[in-house]
Amino acid sequence: MENNSRKEKAIPGDKLAVVEEFEPGEGTYEVNGEIRASILGKINIDNKNKLITIETHVKKNDMPKPNDKVEGIIENIIGPGAILKIIKVNEKENFEFLSGVIEIRRSRGQRESGVDVTDRVRATVFSVVDGNIYLNIREQNDGVVSSKCIECCSQVVKVDRGVKCVECGLERFKKLALDFK
Ligand SMILES: [Zn+2]
Repeated sequence: MENNSRKEKAIPGDKLAVVEEFEPGEGTYEVNGEIRASILGKINIDNKNKLITIETHVKKNDMPKPNDKVEGIIENIIGPGAILKIIKVNEKENFEFLSGVIEIRRSRGQRESGVDVTDRVRATVFSVVDGNIYLNIREQNDGVVSSKCIECCSQVVKVDRGVKCVECGLERFKKLALDFK
């Protein structure tokens, strides 16, 4: 835990502990030796079993299932994952404060993830494990559906392998959905 301020609630991406201290349990994931929250909920610390979990109010049958389509906003990018705040599941609005993790594969020399914070992204659920929703954007119609410049918030246009800002000219590599606009 950071300092002495024990937080009660976590949002996806929050650092909870390091693996030397605790085991990552339900609602958490591990990246670079750190345990982070993957869902929004109450932090449960089991000191006896050295286990840290996040308790969510989302009912099991409200959870998306593999192959469902979700849409949301990128909230955070941490190590190999981008946290997507899910606002639609299979085209239906969702108000359950769900978040998923989009696995990002960085190929040689390519350091950009294909999505940026605040991008609106469509993704496919490939697994749901212990309350964690794992997503990918490999399908043709998955990826960024709308975006703004990360530097100046201006409009961007589609270019060869991503987008370019109409104001400042910044180009970003992105995995765009077919219907990007
Ligand atoms: Zn710009």
